[in-house]
Amino acid sequence: MNNRRKFLNRSLLGLATMSFSKSFAAPKVKKKPIVISTWDSGIPVNEAAMEVLKNTNGRALDAVEKGANNIEDTINCCVGLGGNPDREGRVTLDASIMDDKMNCGGVAFMENIKHPISVARKVMEDTPHVLLVGDGARQFAIEKGFVAEPDVLSKDAQKAYDNWLKKSEYKPVKNIELQQNKAFQKGSGPFAPQMLENGDFNHDTMALLALDNSGNLSGACTTSGMGFKMRGRVGDSPIIGAGLYVDNEVGACTSSGQGEEVVRIAGSHLVVEFMRQGKSPEMACKMAIERLVKINPKKAKEEFQVGFIALNKYGEYGAFAINPGFVFSVTTAPGNGKVIKAKSYFN
Ligand code: ASP
Repeated sequence: MNNRRKFLNRSLLGLATMSFSKSFAAPKVKKKPIVISTWDSGIPVNEAAMEVLKNTNGRALDAVEKGANNIEDTINCCVGLGGNPDREGRVTLDASIMDDKMNCGGVAFMENIKHPISVARKVMEDTPHVLLVGDGARQFAIEKGFVAEPDVLSKDAQKAYDNWLKKSEYKPVKNIELQQNKAFQKGSGPFAPQMLENGDFNHDTMALLALDNSGNLSGACTTSGMGFKMRGRVGDSPIIGAGLYVDNEVGACTSSGQGEEVVRIAGSHLVVEFMRQGKSPEMACKMAIERLVKINPKKAKEEFQVGFIALNKYGEYGAFAINPGFVFSVTTAPGNGKVIKAKSYFN
């Protein structure tokens, strides 16, 4: 009797699983290649990724690495060595990467290395580990041929830091719509230097997801994290399942915003699981945001921002944020990148 019940339970479970995968596997046209990324600063990033994806054999994994490298080479508040420092004046970088075969790698709290995403890829491909941090990560990078750059803040970061020192209080500044629009009007995106001086923005991550011509997904996430954070603080970006997750059978998700909140709900993994249940990428992102807001609606509304972007196996994409102001970039062919405003829980 007991065995029969177990058997029936198992069969029912099997049926439920079948209907889930069936609802996800409804026949749809694949839109590929495609790359999506966080923020309007994602347009040149997508373009760099598309250089790889436009080739028949271009791999999504190479594309997301190239895209991330592109922004790591530029100066902005929130990615790479030009980003805002921690409260002791040191820039520390977090990054992660994940491919279509569940391989993943990351670095966290790493200093002096220009391309953290490429070090994350080396962790994934050349070590038995998934995450290296601090001096260990830097040492590994140098062993792999990366150059240790000097400890110098970019001009913008130095100004922002000097400004921050006046009060020295740790307070994430959420990028609300007004500020975003100001940046749009100036045509320079949220990383405009004048914004840095004013301290209007002190965080944002470059995170991107790609689907290649072979139908494979990959993702990458790179950041200098929250500006003026405590020394040693690590956000969601290098944590697989929080800041980034890729399941090649279903879809991929990545995030930007207050990392602590994303970690709390294992955000990117949660979004992928919602997509596995048949939800559209936008709906999946929305459901994860609802989960997050529920923890403390007042705080979520007033104190921080989180935005998810997601891409499924069919090339369908979507995003959702807690507060207005989150935008993302979508590119399906060289030169056709567009910026889309994400919907948000609060208006
Ligand atoms: N998620 C990043 C962190 O918490 C920052 C951001 O994307 O705004 O470090």
